[in-house]
Amino acid sequence: MQLGQQYVPYQLLRSKRRSIGFLITDEGLRITAPRWVSIAEINAAIISKQRWVLSKLQEQQDRPVPQKAQAIEWQSGATLPFLGVNATLKVEFGTPSFFDPETAVLTLNLPTDASPAQCKKHLQAWLMSQARRTFSQRLPFYADQLGVTYHSFTLTSANTRWGSCNSQGKIRLNWRLIHFSPHLIDYVIAHELAHLIEMNHSARFWATVERVFPEYDQAREQLKQLGLAALPQF
Ligand SMILES: [Zn+2]
Repeated sequence: MQLGQQYVPYQLLRSKRRSIGFLITDEGLRITAPRWVSIAEINAAIISKQRWVLSKLQEQQDRPVPQKAQAIEWQSGATLPFLGVNATLKVEFGTPSFFDPETAVLTLNLPTDASPAQCKKHLQAWLMSQARRTFSQRLPFYADQLGVTYHSFTLTSANTRWGSCNSQGKIRLNWRLIHFSPHLIDYVIAHELAHLIEMNHSARFWATVERVFPEYDQAREQLKQLGLAALPQF
């Protein structure tokens, strides 16, 4: 409806209440009115309260928009967690991409004028190769500790889980675990391999995990708190 110079849309909810209610929500003005009140009466009520309505709508427009997780601009200087370390990206052409734990610099082998999209693509491919390498080193270690043999191992990009293991011994691990410390990666690997002994999450399963990874409880809690949502989006 027209309020002074301004066109004000509103949402109307019919309810069992006895009077007309005014509310400013994220979507704007919301009117709650008894079923028996006509639209003309509602409009008249809004006009009588227009000063309040307009000032509240103005206030709401002035409020800062809540910030969504910022998309990372993949270029030199960008930071990301790598093996639990806050790594800084450096785009430099010449040597194969590598991470220097001394300086926490992750050098990406690309021309310095590479676009953020190119950097992102190369970075993800490199992170996945690191994940594959790291996981395939740790899997035999824990398989040996547990006395189990697994059939195969593949990387996943699932958005909901860190890993899985089926009765055929096929292990799947989320490549994004590479962002986390080796300790947490070890926990997930030990966990999935322990499923080759116990295909459930029973007390016996956790006792099996504990045998090779005594601090499993803290690692599990830490992993829960870190979560997938906070990781850089690729
Ligand atoms: Zn499990």
